[in-house]
Amino acid sequence: MNSPSSISFPFYSLQRVNASFEPVLSETLFRVSASGWYIRGKECSAFETAFANYCGVSHCVGVGNGLDALTLIFRAYKELGNLCAGDEVLVPANTFIASILAISANGLVPVLVEPDARSFNLNSELLEAAITPKTRAILAVHLYGRVAAMDKITAIAKRHALLLVEDAAQAHGATLCGKRVGSWGDAAGFSFYPSKNLGALGDGGAVVTQDSKLAAMVRILANYGSDEKYVMNYQGVNSRLDELQAAVLLLKLTRLDEDNEKRNAVAARYISEINNALVQLPEAGHAGEHVWHIFAVRSFMRNALQEYLKQCGVETVIHYPIPPHHQKAYATGLIHGMLPITEALSQTVLSLPMSPLMSDEEVSAVVHAVNSFQGQNK
Ligand SMILES: *Cc1c(COP(=O)(O)O)cnc(C)c1O
Repeated sequence: MNSPSSISFPFYSLQRVNASFEPVLSETLFRVSASGWYIRGKECSAFETAFANYCGVSHCVGVGNGLDALTLIFRAYKELGNLCAGDEVLVPANTFIASILAISANGLVPVLVEPDARSFNLNSELLEAAITPKTRAILAVHLYGRVAAMDKITAIAKRHALLLVEDAAQAHGATLCGKRVGSWGDAAGFSFYPSKNLGALGDGGAVVTQDSKLAAMVRILANYGSDEKYVMNYQGVNSRLDELQAAVLLLKLTRLDEDNEKRNAVAARYISEINNALVQLPEAGHAGEHVWHIFAVRSFMRNALQEYLKQCGVETVIHYPIPPHHQKAYATGLIHGMLPITEALSQTVLSLPMSPLMSDEEVSAVVHAVNSFQGQNK
């Protein structure tokens, strides 16, 4: 068996993931490059149909990236008259900054809600308590790949007549009660950033929804605001999923469930084999509820643990070291109360290596390194 110091590997190797799709990946790239058609063609349509089916919804619109997917959902709801500038949107305080940007970019007001310290996701009781007469929508985030408590959150949204949008950028394929993320809310935004569970070879994103009016509006807004060539009804943007990325995603989608299973096997080993009083493990939830985009542990000695693991050859990442309400970009414009859980999470979370292609020896090396940490440098 490897001693922890004899092995060294990156947090996540995109090269290794993409090599595992060869030779079909290169054939796919060549096929699209030789086709002479690169934007708004049959690869994108085929992927949109396949991804809508996969999520269990009727519409998918490919866009340029995950931030655009979320931003365009809120913009479309404004154009359709469901939201107005100044409306408040509830969002978890510990999310990635893009969730917040999508709200504020539309002149809507992000209202930060404390997460649950064990699931890292929205706490439904605190969520309901944060609703005011100005609240119009909830942006639920499936952080780290763990589906949020959508059964409770959909009930709250219904009770208070709020729009429910999902940020599913980290949770492709996760299910709750057999229902996939993307099919719970009124609409959902996905990212296909290269390192996501379903990743392109560049930027990509999608909006999924059951609402045909919303899907049509997103498609118009993402194409300069135009439905008919050279006729502009809205001041739109250019945000499209190109043919190369769509073809790559269509190929990779066929292996998504299998890859999520492999991530789950790595997580199951971490959970059963990591045994160190200085390290708190994440909750897996029920089968299917976590697709382990990120395996985040907690430690009150987080910085020392990260340094120790680095000396053992184990690369780790902090998701996220500075919460949105401490970012200079949001010195104003956010509404929030005291956020002790969010503060504590930002000081204690640490993400261990996670990939569908990790070998048994690599998982063993991470387990061994974490278990040998005693609060000091190596
Ligand atoms: C990656 C991510 C996004 C943004 O996706 P991009 O494709 O990088 O724009 C949004 N929300 C969350 C939670 C993410 O992890």
